[in-house]
Amino acid sequence: MRLILSNRIGFCYGVKRAVGIVDEISSKYKVKTFGPLIHNPQMIDRLRKKGVQTTDAIDNSVENDCKIVIRSHGVGPDIYTLLDKNRIDYVDATCPFVKNAQNFVNRKNRENATVLIFGDRHHPEVGAVMAYAKDVIVAESIEEVRALKHFKKLAVVSQTTQSKKLFRQAIMILLDKADELDIYNSICGATESRQAEAEKLSQKVDVMLVVGGKNSANTRRLLTVCRNYCDRCYHIETFREIKSDWFSQDSTIGLVTGASTPDFIVDEIIEQMKEKFDPNILVESIDDGL
Ligand code: SF4
Repeated sequence: MRLILSNRIGFCYGVKRAVGIVDEISSKYKVKTFGPLIHNPQMIDRLRKKGVQTTDAIDNSVENDCKIVIRSHGVGPDIYTLLDKNRIDYVDATCPFVKNAQNFVNRKNRENATVLIFGDRHHPEVGAVMAYAKDVIVAESIEEVRALKHFKKLAVVSQTTQSKKLFRQAIMILLDKADELDIYNSICGATESRQAEAEKLSQKVDVMLVVGGKNSANTRRLLTVCRNYCDRCYHIETFREIKSDWFSQDSTIGLVTGASTPDFIVDEIIEQMKEKFDPNILVESIDDGL
């Protein structure tokens, strides 16, 4: 049995930064994150055990000695106003790549452009970016982009975890749908390189394990990428979901993770695969394995 790991395993820059902020301040203060800090239930559970709570309320229920941490997906301007109005102490852990997209939208809003966000309308990152524009629409698919009317002035931004291929297709369609088109490629490097590795790896293996929160958009995107090349792809959060009949002793297994999957989950998968399936499993990286 061979297990080939992609190079980008574990937290991306933005998630590492957000978790680091919470780790540091929770050793000195009572901390609540505004919404779940990241989309990984196992990591949220770990933080909860360390006393870090999650809240959706920015009001007088937040104790005076408590610091609010704004999660990596960011928030709209209304939330900053509420924090200031209620004199709540906060630390902003919005990923700088998300911040860049928010700043672009804010600027284009002031220039009276219609803003189009290409992404999942129910995702908190998209919700927060939307909140920076008055005239804003969201398209979730190429079909939705095709159905759009013509615009005088259109500014386009994508969810940071969007597929570059799809974003490129959307832009090609939009070229004929606006007199003035302004594009900001906000897909982050971490997303791009993980998707590229997932594409490469899934073409060479028998089984793909895509590890990350079921609620994680970037993990689900990796699964979609892998399914284009490999028939047997499984999205798991932890080792416990793995079934023994997914592979045989001759299987080559690929493993990729979402940007918010902690290292301890991958370490446990490797350890348990050795223990339960093959003590001699060959664990390689994408560079020496392919
Ligand atoms: S996936 Fe990209 S945008 Fe999202 S938190 Fe990580 S680095 Fe930031």
